Amino acid sequence: ATPTALMVGTGRSAKMGILIKNGEVLEAVNDIKTVVFDKTGTITIGKPEVTDIIGDEKNILNFATGLEQSSEHPLASAILKKAKSENINVPSVSQFKAIEGKGVKATVNGQSAFIGNDKLLSDVKINAELKQRVIKLQEEAKTVVFVGVENEVIGLIAIQDAPKETSKEAIADLKARGLKTVMLTGDNQRVAKAIAKQVGIDSVIADVLPSDKADHVKSLQQDGKVAFVGDGINDAPALTVADVGIAMGSGTDIAIESGGIVLVKNDLRDVDRALALSKKTFNRIK
Ligand code: ADP
Ligand code: MG
Repeated sequence: ATPTALMVGTGRSAKMGILIKNGEVLEAVNDIKTVVFDKTGTITIGKPEVTDIIGDEKNILNFATGLEQSSEHPLASAILKKAKSENINVPSVSQFKAIEGKGVKATVNGQSAFIGNDKLLSDVKINAELKQRVIKLQEEAKTVVFVGVENEVIGLIAIQDAPKETSKEAIADLKARGLKTVMLTGDNQRVAKAIAKQVGIDSVIADVLPSDKADHVKSLQQDGKVAFVGDGINDAPALTVADVGIAMGSGTDIAIESGGIVLVKNDLRDVDRALALSKKTFNRIK
């Protein structure tokens, strides 16, 4: 590899908002078989909105506001925004505990409370009718979180995060190149599948705990080289393990540091452009 060609290639891509950090990346790009995507903030806009509340809305939002007060999760900001628009007061909160990939537990208004997915519900029962409503919401690509007080579900909140406008085209471009596309997410299987269908992604690995993302990338590497595209704190290990880590420019600092390629414009179509450019550059310097 001649350094000059390398610099020309990466200089041109930089002008397009595609930062390629090193030559190793260029080399790996040639044999990528699979592109794996994080969901939230990568395929989707990353600005979730509350769409439905089932149960006593004021009471649910009151507990949810307490629970999400100190959470940094994107779902928390959606809930706090909704609560603010409904003029919900912030209740007293103690014993806050974030549970990775599941939700939050805390003492709110002197009662033990929780918010999160069904992994938090181990000994809590929900009736068949509520369960049906949950399934329906999830099939509409809405993430459902349960709100519970003293070991009983008082209601649920559905939250939607729409795909970015360009995600569908971006996936189609990669598939046209013969690449396999996979979504890897901590969200529920039904929600993940609904989003994957909207954007044309081939396969879905859902309900993944943040600490397991990198291991899933490793198993996919058994079928050939893997590019991973992500934006979050959780994505850093997967970005590092992948043959090519591609970070969204809007992502967390740790994601950007872990990526070999950074997409400054946050346009998912730049994944395909980055692959095309790297191939051209690599073939020239070979
Ligand atoms: P993602 O891949 O979307 O970043 P996470 O691992 O961060 O997934 O979260 C997975 C799931 O855990 C969420 O979809 C949600 O059901 C639940 N969860 C995590 N944190 C919270 C929270 N602060 N409030 C409510 N639910 C949460
Ligand atoms: Mg994300």
